[in-house]
Amino acid sequence: MKPRLYWLEIDITYACGMDCLNCNRMTGIAPGRPEQDVTVAQIDGLINDSVRLKYPWRKWFLVGGEPTTHPELHEILDRIRAYRTSHRPRLEVTLATHGCGEPTQTILDTVTSAFPFLTVLNSHKTGAVHNHFIAPCAAPTDRGEHWASQHVYKGCHISRECGIGMTYQGFYPCAIAGAIDRIFALDQGIASLEQVSRAVLIEKYQVFCRLCGHYRPMRDNSHTLLSPVWQRAIERYSASKREVSYAH
Ligand code: SF4
Ligand code: SF4
Repeated sequence: MKPRLYWLEIDITYACGMDCLNCNRMTGIAPGRPEQDVTVAQIDGLINDSVRLKYPWRKWFLVGGEPTTHPELHEILDRIRAYRTSHRPRLEVTLATHGCGEPTQTILDTVTSAFPFLTVLNSHKTGAVHNHFIAPCAAPTDRGEHWASQHVYKGCHISRECGIGMTYQGFYPCAIAGAIDRIFALDQGIASLEQVSRAVLIEKYQVFCRLCGHYRPMRDNSHTLLSPVWQRAIERYSASKREVSYAH
């Protein structure tokens, strides 16, 4: 699958609080940390590079996690407004929200009033179980030798339909790959927009699709399904949090 180069999903935060089973950003089983928020400086960097490269963005999506929990959401939207006004007036900007709770609704009201260009995609979630969710933490590589070593991974419909991903760690062929990197600490983010190309993104399929349940979809809505490599990765992630808190 060819990644959709001119659409960008930015996971501005991994904080959420809804704890949905089989969330493909893993925010329930591996809660987001403040240092995993995309910073205003990183948005500035994205915009500066986009201007310099005359990058023909068509759509940006602010995603997460729950983007309304980002403490600097207004500043981020301010920067995007300036970029749109001066450089890409047709850029479509969408914020995806679970829409749950009064605080969320208050923030949505405020930002849609202050930034009229913003479209809100509200999934109106009310609970943790979603029958249509795929189990993202069922790694193909845990299904046997062929999938572990020989298979050439080719992406899936998500990279073609949703666009490339950006997180606090860089760019990815899809936002889910960025979320996988957050847990596995593979350090595979593409550092700058200048280095993003279709070929480089497709190379990353070999790193991420082997770990991603979306590659060979399974549904299991009774719990968050974790295949063995994921169980170990989540344990490491949780332990790394303890080390950080001990250090303080
Ligand atoms: S609302 Fe979205 S980001 Fe939050 S836990 Fe549910 S699926 Fe994940
Ligand atoms: S990492 Fe997952 S979501 Fe992204 S292209 Fe590969 S299979 Fe699809």
